[in-house]
Amino acid sequence: MTCLPPLTDLLRQLIATPSVSSDHPRHDMGNLPVVSLMANWLEGLGFSCEVLPLASHPEKANLIATLGSGPGGLVLAGHTDTVPYDDSGWDADPFTLSERDQQWYGLGVCDMKGFLALAVEAASLCRGERLQAPLILLATADEESGMDGARALVEAGKPKARHAVIGEPTNLRPVRLHKGILMDSLHVHGHAGHSSRPDLGANAIRGMHQVLDALLTHEAELAQHRCGRGFAIDHPTMNLGCIEGGDSANRIPAHCRLDVDMRFGPDDDIATLRTGLREAAHKGLTEAGCRLEPQTLFEGIPAFETAATTAIVEACEALTGHRAEAVDFATEGPFLNQLGMDTVILGPGDIAVAHQPNESLPLDRIAPTQELLRALIQRFCLTT
Ligand SMILES: [Zn+2]
Repeated sequence: MTCLPPLTDLLRQLIATPSVSSDHPRHDMGNLPVVSLMANWLEGLGFSCEVLPLASHPEKANLIATLGSGPGGLVLAGHTDTVPYDDSGWDADPFTLSERDQQWYGLGVCDMKGFLALAVEAASLCRGERLQAPLILLATADEESGMDGARALVEAGKPKARHAVIGEPTNLRPVRLHKGILMDSLHVHGHAGHSSRPDLGANAIRGMHQVLDALLTHEAELAQHRCGRGFAIDHPTMNLGCIEGGDSANRIPAHCRLDVDMRFGPDDDIATLRTGLREAAHKGLTEAGCRLEPQTLFEGIPAFETAATTAIVEACEALTGHRAEAVDFATEGPFLNQLGMDTVILGPGDIAVAHQPNESLPLDRIAPTQELLRALIQRFCLTT
């Protein structure tokens, strides 16, 4: 067994190792260097490490590091990838961990390499202990784009454990509910032509105007439907996120694309919502010569819900002094629940500073997180 570097060094190395993931191939990169850093540290602590490359992206892999054996046990989970960064927005190099105003700064420090470093440090407490139930560190790939890492874990049926904590930024308040997501691209195809003879073409932007009208009506109908779980917005929502069509004022546009994102509650079904969206768009489009082609942009993930009475929710509530909440952003939680774990989202960062320049983590979150992880490991691995 080797000696583990101090927390700041763990984090510095994670931040210095780029692992951007993005739907745009020009930003997307692998996460293998981050996975091998973590595997090295954890093997040094006596964990057995499995690196599972994704079939869809061989340069990306999940890491399952296990100490101990048997049923039950605790998973500490986090994604290894970050979102892309704006070159100009940062006050300092995003890949160099820096400290000022009682905060750490760096790309991923909040979302969520900070938690990964803390989890590795907490794992070192088990060195030389006899575990009653296994401790598993799970580091996933591709969370910020397609969630293909978590999907691959469900396909592989691992890891198996009873309880899980995903350290996404929640300001150290436990979360046991969040909405699901789906994303679609709606393409309107028309026919190009000279702008002086609109009658000879089929204007895809005019067609999209009708689709937009239909979607706004559909959105108003969806807003009548209650999620009933304490979300800030208590109904399914729709975001008209991106539109692109045509190229010049003197040409009839042959194509227009709209990207739509939907968020919904635990009682909603992805397939039904997607069908409803596409049917509304189809019905709306009556422009002569135009046709609609819907495409799946993000297959989607269901909403996430872990029962309030589970041991992990109760433990996280007791340790933080906060009742478990519902949030509107999504995580890999539904996939871990599908694997049979009771999962709570609970981490030191603040989602409000994630996905933007000068992402930070307050230093005063470190000690409470260390204490929390120590207590969870004690409760679920050492004394079960
Ligand atoms: Zn995240």
